[in-house]
Amino acid sequence: CLPQADELMAWESKHGAHNYLPLPVVLARGEGCWVWDADGRRYLDMMAAYSALSFGHAHPRLVAALDSQSRRLAVTSRAYHNDRLPLFLKRLAELLGYERALPVNTGLEAVETALKAARKWGYQIKGIADGKAEIIACAGNFHGRSIAIVGLSTEAQYRSGFGPFPPGLKTVPYGDAAALEAAITPHTAAFLVEPIQCEGGIVVPPRGYLAACAEICRRHDVLLIADEVQTGLGRTGRLLACQHEQVRPDGVILGKALGGGLLPVSAFLADDRVMRVFTPGDHGSTFGGNPLAAAVALEALTLLEEEGLVAHAAELGIHMQTRLKALKSPSIRDVRGCGLLAGIDLNPDLVDARTFCEILLRHGVLSKDTHDTVVRLAPPLIITRAELDSGLDAVQSAVEELDQ
Ligand code: PMP
Repeated sequence: CLPQADELMAWESKHGAHNYLPLPVVLARGEGCWVWDADGRRYLDMMAAYSALSFGHAHPRLVAALDSQSRRLAVTSRAYHNDRLPLFLKRLAELLGYERALPVNTGLEAVETALKAARKWGYQIKGIADGKAEIIACAGNFHGRSIAIVGLSTEAQYRSGFGPFPPGLKTVPYGDAAALEAAITPHTAAFLVEPIQCEGGIVVPPRGYLAACAEICRRHDVLLIADEVQTGLGRTGRLLACQHEQVRPDGVILGKALGGGLLPVSAFLADDRVMRVFTPGDHGSTFGGNPLAAAVALEALTLLEEEGLVAHAAELGIHMQTRLKALKSPSIRDVRGCGLLAGIDLNPDLVDARTFCEILLRHGVLSKDTHDTVVRLAPPLIITRAELDSGLDAVQSAVEELDQ
C-alpha cells in the first residue's frame, strides 16, 4: 500500500532539492483533460504541464505509438540512421514550412541550438568578427535555465547566484520595436523573441510588434528567432503564434507539446541558409532524434492535423478569453492571452496568485501562478466545450469566493 499524500510530500521535501515549490497536491493518474490525486480526487487540468499536454493525458494513440515503438527500437543515438527519424523530420519540416529541423530533447536545448546556429551563422555567413557575435532578447523573457540562457534573462530569480554569464547577450524592452532597432549593431546575429511571453506573465505584445521586428531584422541582416516552445503547435489558435501577424521567422524553436506529453522532444527549425552552418560533430545529443521520440512526435503531429486541433483551439480560445474577460471582480486587474493560453492578473492588494491557485485546486482545477500576480490557464487542446465550461465555472466560483 502506497504512503499517503502527506508522507509522499514529506519524502520529496526531505530527499529532493528544493528548486520547486509545488502546489499541495500529489497527482497519481491522468486521462484526457482530467487528473486524479493520490486520494482519488479528480481535477480538471487547466495547466497541461505548461502547454506540454496539448493532447491531454495518456492519449490512446500516443500511448500506442510509444508502446509499439518502445518494443521495436527505442534509442540508437545518432551514430546510426534509424527508420523513424526521417519520417518525423519530413513531416515536421513540411508542416511548419521550413527546409530543415534539428531535433533535441527539452525546450532549453532547442533554444541553445538556435543560439549556437545564430552565432555560427553570424561568423560564417554574415561575417561578424570572431568572438563578437551578439544575441538580443527581450526583458521579461523565459527561454530556459542553462547558464547561457539565464544569462539572457532579466529576472533576478533565474539569474542571481549563477553568474558569470557568456558575453554577447543583451536585452531590449518587450513590445518596443524601435528599442530593438536602436540596440542592433553590426555584430548582432539574432533577435530571440517569444510571440507571447508565457512565464513572464502571459504578456501579449502590441499588434504589429512581431511584423515590425521581422522587417527590422530583415533590413539589418539579423536572424529573427521565435521561441514557440509554449505558444507553438496550435496553442494560440494558429499553428505558430507568429502566424497571427503573417510573420515567418528565420528560425523557430518548438518543444513541450511536440513530444505528445509523453516524452521530451524539441526541435530547432530553419532553412538551409541558416542550418547549413552545422557540420558533423559540432552539435547534437545522445537522445535527440531517437526513434521512440520520433515515432511519438510523428503521431502527435498527425493527431494535431487529423483532429483539427488548431482550429478547435482557435474556436474554444475565443470562448475562453471572452468568458474570462467577462469576469468582473475587484480582485482581477487584467485578463490577457490568445487562444487556449490565458493569464488572469490579480490585484496584489487583495490576493496573490498562489493563493488563488490553491482556491482553484479546492474547486477541482489545476492552474499555475507566475510572478506573484498572474494565474495561468492553458488546458489541453483536446478539451471539449463542456469540459472547458466546467473549468471556467470553477474559476468564476473561485472569484466569487474571494469577493465574499
Ligand atoms: N522557452 C519557453 C518559451 C518556455 O516556456 C520554456 C519552458 N517553460 C522553455 C523555453 C524551456 O523549456 P524546457 O523546460 O523544456 O527546457
